[in-house]
Amino acid sequence: MTIPTEIFQDLTVLSIPLRNRFRGIDIREVAIFRGDQGWSEFSPFIEYGEVEASTWLKAALEAAYKPWPKQYRDRIPINATLPMVEPDQASQILSRFPGCTTVKIKVDDFVVGAELVEATLDEIPDAKIRLDVNEGWTLEEALLNLYDYNLRFGNIFEYIEQPCKSLDDLKRLKRETPFKIAADESIRKDLDAHFEEFSQYADVAILKWAPVGGFDAAHELASRIGLPVVISSALETGVGISQSLALAGSFPQLDYACGLGTVSLFESDICEPAFTVSNGFMEVRRGEPVPALLSKYQAAPERVEWWHNRINAIWNSKDFREGSEWQ
Ligand SMILES: [Mg+2]
Repeated sequence: MTIPTEIFQDLTVLSIPLRNRFRGIDIREVAIFRGDQGWSEFSPFIEYGEVEASTWLKAALEAAYKPWPKQYRDRIPINATLPMVEPDQASQILSRFPGCTTVKIKVDDFVVGAELVEATLDEIPDAKIRLDVNEGWTLEEALLNLYDYNLRFGNIFEYIEQPCKSLDDLKRLKRETPFKIAADESIRKDLDAHFEEFSQYADVAILKWAPVGGFDAAHELASRIGLPVVISSALETGVGISQSLALAGSFPQLDYACGLGTVSLFESDICEPAFTVSNGFMEVRRGEPVPALLSKYQAAPERVEWWHNRINAIWNSKDFREGSEWQ
């Protein structure tokens, strides 16, 4: 079977270099296509299996074919995102997020992380700082590292994102440290979990448009979790980021800056104007890719074939067909 071209119109596979290595990759591969509502993006990371990737495909199809949910604002406050880089690179990276006073820093080792916090404070003295650990610490490491962060900087941190993997560890950290805890992987890696009493484990819920399965799924999840949300990117191009901006715009209450300025981590967006930050905000609008940029970042034929096979396998899988309203 082949991909239905009437559903995945103008399907294009792209390969875009990143300016700095981020979550272990130097090149971001994505597929984009058009539906009745405009362009949409399907871009699960390469290593993701079929089940996880099928959730992203649901989001991509919903955005291509269903109107956006009701919007409560036309611009979204944005946080800067600082990858795990050498501290002397921080200034240049932060300059790509003009006007952002909230900074999310990817951390692991305390000494290196603390240098990035200092480099950030040198640039933005009153920055609200979030540390994102991506489940990287054991409970013991988290207790020790957070003690050290508190000792060195005081409680200048807006929250600590997913310091440990287990919910029980998050619960202890929430109780035993002065910091707010945000849950990210705990939510998107286990979407069917029971989220009752989730406020025992975290103070903030990170939601990502495609990994949670799109607009309707994100709202359903948010109401089950019952915590303030932060909408964050999964390193999409402007086409996917525009969907995430619309998701952020669709929550009546939005207390925190959102992590959607990540197109500036790419060598270039594929949309013009690019989905970058201005005065700390991004405008909610649909992403329109530019033909010249699509040709520039066109993926190699073997990668195009790989993505076609990936979409095909999900589209034709029994689980997707049974649960799908698209076929
Ligand atoms: Mg995270």
